[in-house]
Amino acid sequence: MSLAELQAIEAAHVIPSYARMPVELVRGAGTRVWDADGNEYLDLLSGISVLNVGHCHPAVVEAVRAQAGVLTHATNLFYTAPAMRLAQRLAESSLGGKVFFCNSGAEANEAALKLVRKAKPGGEVVVVHGAFHGRTYGALSATPQESKQAPFAPLVPGFVVVAPEAAALEAAVHEGTAAVLLEPIQSETGIHPLPDELLRAARAACDRVGAALVFDEVATGMGRTGTLWAYEQTGVVPDALTSAKALGGGLPIGALVTGERLADVFQPGDHGSTFAGGPLVAGAALAAFDVLSDPGLLASVRELGERLREGLRALPGASEVRGRGLMVAFDTDDAPALVRRALLDERLILNATGPSTVRMLPPLIVTAAEIDDALARIGRLLAAVTA
Ligand code: PLP
Repeated sequence: MSLAELQAIEAAHVIPSYARMPVELVRGAGTRVWDADGNEYLDLLSGISVLNVGHCHPAVVEAVRAQAGVLTHATNLFYTAPAMRLAQRLAESSLGGKVFFCNSGAEANEAALKLVRKAKPGGEVVVVHGAFHGRTYGALSATPQESKQAPFAPLVPGFVVVAPEAAALEAAVHEGTAAVLLEPIQSETGIHPLPDELLRAARAACDRVGAALVFDEVATGMGRTGTLWAYEQTGVVPDALTSAKALGGGLPIGALVTGERLADVFQPGDHGSTFAGGPLVAGAALAAFDVLSDPGLLASVRELGERLREGLRALPGASEVRGRGLMVAFDTDDAPALVRRALLDERLILNATGPSTVRMLPPLIVTAAEIDDALARIGRLLAAVTA
């Protein structure tokens, strides 16, 4: 089937909620993907931070193959070893409490919102401008972006929005606050690390009133910033965190992970999901976990992130280079044009988060030579687009 035929089907039968690039991807391996004409692309986006292990990582493929022929689904009416082992690894690698599984980042945040409301009935949830927590109603209500929220009003009540500043956040937290929900680094709006001072203020404010501090690590977790979790670099430990994206090694899974204090808030019947933590995806996640928690890989993420940022800073036409680990962005005059030409002229997969911001989230297995190659190609593109 040709690309034109696929586009005709899309026009007739697919609800047009996405703007797709004019490329049909058919195969992926490591940092590379191929289109239907056999063209090879260097992927610097990882399916928006999903493929931290790279495309079709052999360990993930093997785990899926092995599990697919044995037991794919069990429901949470029964035990399976992959789900229990994954919960143990997630909890032991982070907050030490307990895990609720789901299928996506938005669902992980929905679970967190329900949990903190149950812990403090009727309590408000404080979020900051520029945040993105997902598209379902609770997660959307926590996502204070006019264009995303306005068409879907009325939203879930009880959210308070403040500027991402320590003083504003401290002032917004009171006895009736159930939680503060923050991304350590805002991703969807163009890679904006929240200052450690703000995170510390959020921790202190939550402690003052017995509210829960929840970190959305859907984008920042699973090694993306050079530690398994981004919070490890901030000096602030949240009461709960949410994970998804890279957690499943390319398959859909989400998780809410709590510390001790919130571990037993949900009781049977409070929350649930048919597919959540199924053995197939939990098996894939365990394989991905082994890869992404390797100290050597995490050190390489920190090192190559610096190399990428330094290289970008040297390129005329790129400004405001920022990020942590391999979560990187820069500003340029026309980001969508650059991203399109990157794809079609240089066979490089990037992402524009707005009119002037280019986001880069390469697979964490990327090499120094691939980073240098990408920098050379971006340099050519910047010269062409800003000429
Ligand atoms: N939270 C953050 C920080 C995200 O970046 C995203 C997705 O981009 C989400 C939540 C929503 O995740 P999902 O698309 O899996 O629902």
